[in-house]
Amino acid sequence: PEGPARTYLEGLNPEQRAAVEATEGPVLVLAGAGTGKTRVLTTRLAHILATGRARPWELLVVTFTNKAAREMRERITHIIGDEAEGLRWLGTFHSVAAQILRRHAELVGLKSSYTIIDTDDQERLLKQLIEAADIDAKRWTPRALAGLIDTWKNRGWTPDRVPQSEAGEFANGRGITLYRQYQERLRILNACDFGDLLLHNITIFTANPDVLADFQRRFQYVMVDEYQDTNVAQYLWLRLLAQGRQNVCCVGDDDQSIYGWRGAEVDNILRFERDFPGAKVIKLERNYRSTEHILAAASGLIDANKSRLGKTLWTEASGGEKVKVSGVWDGEAESRMVADEIEKAKRAGRKYSHMAILVRASFQMRAFEERFVMLQIPYKVVGGPRFFERAEIRDAHAYLRLIQSPDDDLAFERIVNTPKRGIGDTSVQKLLQIARLEGISTVEAARVIIGGDDLPARTRTALSNFLRDLDRWRALAATTPHQRVMEAVLEESGYTDALRLDKGPTSQTRLENLKELVQSMSAFDTLEGYLEHVSLVMDLDKGAGDDAVWIMTLHSAKGLEFPLVFLPGWEEGVFPSQRSMDDKGEKGLEEERRLAYVGITRAREEARISFVANRQVYGRWTSQLPSRFVDELPLAHVDAASETGYYGGGPGMQQTVSSRWDDPGTSTFTAGSYDSPGWKRAQERTAYSEKGGFSERGSTWRSGGSAARSAPIEGE
Ligand code: ATP
Ligand code: MG
Repeated sequence: PEGPARTYLEGLNPEQRAAVEATEGPVLVLAGAGTGKTRVLTTRLAHILATGRARPWELLVVTFTNKAAREMRERITHIIGDEAEGLRWLGTFHSVAAQILRRHAELVGLKSSYTIIDTDDQERLLKQLIEAADIDAKRWTPRALAGLIDTWKNRGWTPDRVPQSEAGEFANGRGITLYRQYQERLRILNACDFGDLLLHNITIFTANPDVLADFQRRFQYVMVDEYQDTNVAQYLWLRLLAQGRQNVCCVGDDDQSIYGWRGAEVDNILRFERDFPGAKVIKLERNYRSTEHILAAASGLIDANKSRLGKTLWTEASGGEKVKVSGVWDGEAESRMVADEIEKAKRAGRKYSHMAILVRASFQMRAFEERFVMLQIPYKVVGGPRFFERAEIRDAHAYLRLIQSPDDDLAFERIVNTPKRGIGDTSVQKLLQIARLEGISTVEAARVIIGGDDLPARTRTALSNFLRDLDRWRALAATTPHQRVMEAVLEESGYTDALRLDKGPTSQTRLENLKELVQSMSAFDTLEGYLEHVSLVMDLDKGAGDDAVWIMTLHSAKGLEFPLVFLPGWEEGVFPSQRSMDDKGEKGLEEERRLAYVGITRAREEARISFVANRQVYGRWTSQLPSRFVDELPLAHVDAASETGYYGGGPGMQQTVSSRWDDPGTSTFTAGSYDSPGWKRAQERTAYSEKGGFSERGSTWRSGGSAARSAPIEGE
């Protein structure tokens, strides 16, 4: 039976409608950003249900995040009503795989009550195994092994399947053995990690054809959003489940593939047509999200990528604002400019929640967060703690607090064994006990205990070394600028070394955050002043209501849209990130460019890109070059302005413009050629530094050190 009034089909363009109505057989929708891929998927789902082709629990629908799954459920409820509640198999790859594993856990030696362990537990377990194997856990860290195992799992490899050639360097090739032991331990613990969810599913399906057949019959229709970011394991899983009925619809955009580091493979897109012969490939070319200039700027940028399938995009939303590209002096000026524009937009009637700041790396968030707190602009940080709530920042602050007030017990307890210095939980418990009995602070108790024999000699030595370090840093603080003290503490305590040795996925980010922290301290005259500021920020930070500006990384912005989008930090080394270029060369650069494309195409009405001429890194000012992505934006669609007189890489771009940001008009360029080869950049960089900046202000700011913070801060 064809359902009642199918109003949900109205408003779709012919291609979209074709994708919705092509319910039988394999379908691949390959289309650019904002062309309605997600909308097609949602409508298709509603259509299948409304026309009685299947029941809700016979649909397998995979989205990239839980948030996306929730939103899809809401939209479908909107179209078809309560029946949407029966969509039991709508979720992320992981959540669906976890459900399947619950039903058949015994087939991989688990009970259905199995637990999913988090990365902390995972590392603890791996550490035991590494140590038991007499491998130096400092050199070969649990985190590195966890990363390696994850890579293998993403490729669909159980321990027996890892090719010897892929064993990796870890402990001279002993990674595979440790992997096998780890899986055995997990089984005994009735546990699995995230990567196991899919891998166990695949094992179950391949070893038990009857179970697979059962699921293949159940899932009448299979649908996948953000298909370009599936990894091999996800693809194998999908192929197994969809190969029965072949009613599979995947939507994606090769230009938005941004998870290469997690093992995602664009090749899966090409593989689809091979694995599902006769697949219908549908292209959507009309973009419904963005205005002409935004779309043209994004398309021009992504054109610079060589490895892409290529596509056309157009929009009827002509006109609108050009993409605004602004160069300013430094990070401080950048956050000030963005905050000003947010306030202006708010006064003009825009909601805060219609604005988003999308950054490449989390360290960039700090400057915006602080400015927002000061101006009382409500904001929300997506996908992670706010800057000052991050573990590494709290650790660093604990050191500072302890330097400032020696009896700060909470701070002491936080860092007495961070980084690890051989003062375990039992010793700390003993300290606390003494402190309680004697009515003294824990730090004092530590001084008492090192003179006695309550603790093993080794622990006492460690403790007394730590106390000595604290005294030394305290003495240093009396004579040295506080951000130098912070640097010394992070180095001498072994904190940064521990992170550097750590090859895990977050250690680099944490190092960057610490650098950013040191940098931000220079704005305060005293350590007390700084710490007071932090407690203030932490306090004000709490509870933004529903109308708040979004701050998130570009990665977590995938699939979302906002009327006004800010894209700060478009500088070489920041974006494209140095690391991705170093690690993966041209491939890495192309992935960064796709990320830039994702960023711009999140904007519906306005996109604002910015870059700075000077950034303070670890207390030192470095001159920054505008990102090559700035050069690659087609000029006809950007409105370029620069406070520093420095814009793209082309010749003639270095002229000094004395205008300030708030003198509109004089600072706008019409520029010549923007496509400068790399060697020209290098030359320009030298020219730029030799001049010592373009104005008095520039040269003062470049001088480095704590006194450098002499530039006037307007409006404070
Ligand atoms: P991305 O690649 O960023 O994930 P997408 O291709 O999934 O984008 P959608 O998010 O589905 O695109 O759609 C983009 C915007 O265009 C949404 O606001 C959506 O409601 C709107 N849209 C899509 N199709 C139509 C249509 N036929 N008529 C009007 N609006 C549409
Ligand atoms: Mg989408």
